[in-house]
Amino acid sequence: MDIFSPIESIKRISPAYQKRLQKLGVKTLRDLFYHFPFRYDDFSIIKPIAQLKLNEVATIQGEIIDIKNTRTWKKRMFITEAYIQDQTGIIRAVWFNQPFLINTLKIGQIVSVSGKVNFDKTLYFSNPAHERLFAIDSQLRHTGGLIPIYQETTGLTSRWLRYIIKPLLPKFVSQLKDFLPLEIKRSQSLLDLGKAIEQIHFPKTEKNIQTARRRLAFDELFLIQLFVLQQKLKWQKQKALIINFDRQLIKNFVDSLPFKLTNAQRKSAWEILQDLEKSKPMNRLLEGDVGSGKTVVAVMAMLQAAKAGFQVALMAPTEILAQQHFKEVVKLLKGQNITAGLLTGNQASVNNNFVIPAHEPESRSGSRVPACRTGRKPGMTKKILLSQISSNQIQVLIGTHALIQETVRFNNLVLVIVDEQHRFGVAQRAALQKNVASIKDGSINTIPHLLSMTATPIPRTLALSIYGDLDISLLNEMPKGRQEIITKIVAPTDRNKAYEFIRQQIKEDRQVFVICPRIESQTSNGYGNEARIVESQTSDVTSSRNEPRGRQTLNDRRNWDDVKAVKEEYEKLHKIIFPDLKIAMLHGKLKPKEKEKIMTDFKAGETDILVSTSVVEVGVDIPNATVMMIEGAERFGLAQLHQFRGRVGRGQHQSYCFLFTESSSKNTNARLKALISCKNGFELAEKDLEIRGPGEFYGSKQWGLPDLSMASLTDFSLVKNVRQEAQKLILKDSELKNCPLLKKALERFQENVHLE
Ligand code: ADP
Ligand code: MG
Repeated sequence: MDIFSPIESIKRISPAYQKRLQKLGVKTLRDLFYHFPFRYDDFSIIKPIAQLKLNEVATIQGEIIDIKNTRTWKKRMFITEAYIQDQTGIIRAVWFNQPFLINTLKIGQIVSVSGKVNFDKTLYFSNPAHERLFAIDSQLRHTGGLIPIYQETTGLTSRWLRYIIKPLLPKFVSQLKDFLPLEIKRSQSLLDLGKAIEQIHFPKTEKNIQTARRRLAFDELFLIQLFVLQQKLKWQKQKALIINFDRQLIKNFVDSLPFKLTNAQRKSAWEILQDLEKSKPMNRLLEGDVGSGKTVVAVMAMLQAAKAGFQVALMAPTEILAQQHFKEVVKLLKGQNITAGLLTGNQASVNNNFVIPAHEPESRSGSRVPACRTGRKPGMTKKILLSQISSNQIQVLIGTHALIQETVRFNNLVLVIVDEQHRFGVAQRAALQKNVASIKDGSINTIPHLLSMTATPIPRTLALSIYGDLDISLLNEMPKGRQEIITKIVAPTDRNKAYEFIRQQIKEDRQVFVICPRIESQTSNGYGNEARIVESQTSDVTSSRNEPRGRQTLNDRRNWDDVKAVKEEYEKLHKIIFPDLKIAMLHGKLKPKEKEKIMTDFKAGETDILVSTSVVEVGVDIPNATVMMIEGAERFGLAQLHQFRGRVGRGQHQSYCFLFTESSSKNTNARLKALISCKNGFELAEKDLEIRGPGEFYGSKQWGLPDLSMASLTDFSLVKNVRQEAQKLILKDSELKNCPLLKKALERFQENVHLE
């Protein structure tokens, strides 16, 4: 048997337990060793019985002088009661509903007992941890030290895990090959791998726990770094076309704008334009809060590329966003003699395709997306557009993902811009890059430069790790003169006042968003409803890391009962509160077409109130909307709440964000207050990450990263150290030829982790 043997080969583990371990993702002995405790009970204080004090947590050791089972009459509960004696005194220990204990604990045995000291007439232990002491120096597993508590599952307890893991460790831990290069271990003062694994399971001191965790977290973060840095190298090894930076052109464009660029916009645009001058393909992320003005920065890059005679593609996640961009880009590029095209509604509805010259007079390309000008026959429009793209008559093509996935043939595409690529992870990015890299056009051996844009702020530690393959430009400054959105937490008793306020706003022709955390309210077995998982993944109900699994689930279930649901809320507003107003409902279960229609109607002012789940958060611009009302605000992350808030205040009218919550927890209150005082998406993201941890921040478990490395993703100095070490190593040995063990570890890591 070795470290990679399946758990089936471990004799002490019965088939029933094998199944339970599988449930925890433990398939091999190595997995078992890597099933780390998430906390420890500190039972390290061992005391004589006479010195015990009320409420302290301690361990005593003595002889069982009496033990018996009784049953309570009222609740029909089993109580096991034992008396334990040492040289200084006697103490009572009580266990509830574990009648089988008297089969293992017998009078005359010497035991070690740990727990909190309670009082009922005399001092006693309630449900203490316990184990038999066979000899004076017998090794303790469950009492008398720092006792590991693991993630459990039905029928599989931490006690059992300790019982199994402890004897296996000394026998097999030496088989774990330490894959970290020696220099790195030395310079970072890291424990050896085997030692760290032993210590994380059975530490002697708090310090032991810390050093073990640091080593093991380092490993995971190091592998992430190597992965993203290799990814980056791979990308950079390819060739892109050089687009010369025509400073006069850009200066003239900037001068012609109706507003002054912010310094952040200027700096970002310069970074991008300088990237484009290189033969290495750009892979840059333009990150900026909602309304920070990313579009105009992207347009500067478009302008430069188009004027140099090349083509640019801009992709948006939905049709409505693509149309919005099209309008905006056409407006910004007016007078530049550049032709822009819009390609959406692929295959399904060819009628939705439009081609118009960018220099179309304002009246035609004004408020509405103009009607098709290249023919109304289905199929025709798209065909003509495609031929214009392939013959280089279109310089800027805007549309959905279909742009690079479908058989669009560009003539000489040099730049791909992706907007609002929401929460995209390494794997999705790799897929996108592959797509982009595989675009075949006139120039065979080059790939386009890639610019991504996002309004989702990325905390520093993630920017240096999970997003470490990207160069990042930051729009950390808002254009001048933006109105402040008034944010308020509304008490349940003030709900009607809020409705009155909404009515007033609508009377003044404004529009209102109502966001709810779920689609439908709880049915009897509605728990596990897919929509809930998808649309509310960022809820914070499971954030309490210190509670064992089973309990989290219970909490979860209880809390979801009173979560506001879109359908219910829609019915209520529609039938009772505002029967005279036009109300629409939007959620992720609708077909894309239906969603599109609802958004388009809302944008056109045909609906007064839009009741929606979080699907509304992506950058749709509705300048006339002035109220964002968020139900169950505690369910959403701060960054996400901030995104919602960014949906209003986009026109000239004073706007409001109302936060409703049924939760009275301190934590919730503190979080929501942070939203009132802080208007900066980056700061909120950092706070969010701090409060909820990366797992919850980006949707639970989505990366498949172990909890430890998830937690360490908030440790800035560790992340920075790891990055430096990884960069040094990759610079010396990008293929890890001299580190075969590390190479192997990285391969295994890539198989198990999906950073998406
Ligand atoms: P986002 O970063 O959310 O995509 P947009 O690019 O849509 O933001 O810009 C939001 C609005 O701000 C647009 O109407 C745009 O014309 C305007 N805008 C952009 N930059 C500036 C600026 N420097 N000063 C004033 N308004 C600006
Ligand atoms: Mg935008």
